[in-house]
Amino acid sequence: MSRILLCEDDQLIGTMVRLNLEQDGYGVEWQRSGEAALELLTQQRFDLMLLDIGLPGMSGLDVARASRAAGVGTPIVMLTARDDLETKVQALDGGADDYLCKPFDMAELLARVRAQIRRSQGSLEVATEAELQIGMARVDFDRRTLRDQAGAEFELTDKEVELLQFLVRNPHRALSRADILEEVWGMDTSPTERTVDNFIVRLRKWIEPDAEHPRHIQTVRGWGYRYEP
Ligand code: CA
Repeated sequence: MSRILLCEDDQLIGTMVRLNLEQDGYGVEWQRSGEAALELLTQQRFDLMLLDIGLPGMSGLDVARASRAAGVGTPIVMLTARDDLETKVQALDGGADDYLCKPFDMAELLARVRAQIRRSQGSLEVATEAELQIGMARVDFDRRTLRDQAGAEFELTDKEVELLQFLVRNPHRALSRADILEEVWGMDTSPTERTVDNFIVRLRKWIEPDAEHPRHIQTVRGWGYRYEP
């Protein structure tokens, strides 16, 4: 079970976030002050910290800076009411890995939590093989090219490469559009779930024997996609 340290002084938000995380199977330790959270973070191992910026006493930014200065590598997702660029830059410079503005959508929060935990665990996994057969296409991840069944070669964009790698690393798993957005697009601009669909349409043309009836990148209705090698 992944453990999450939640640092939030607001009773209502804290209760709601903890409830949703626990429903998703996470173990949650909830602290109301930055000082208490920082102490716990240096004593115990957590898979992620959700950190409110506006705290009484030590601010979330201070907590992030102090934890990084203490050599703690736990991924940090900042929560804040302030949606300005300066705060965002400060949060990231201070050691946060991601950033979410209040009021946030719970589904989005959960997707970001999953993405951060996957990312930090994924760095321990073996890298994707340089060359892979994906459906009808041959993909060279080093050269970032794809050769289709007719032998034509295409250059892949960064997002296409990341999306393909994410799919092949997670075979047989139903991946939500929100998961895919978080993993592949992260904090880039503001892509929509339609963006994911458009990329999938393009990949299917290369990979599927029949793009109208996909076998390798299957649609999971109302959710997202599943890769079947
Ligand atoms: Ca607060």
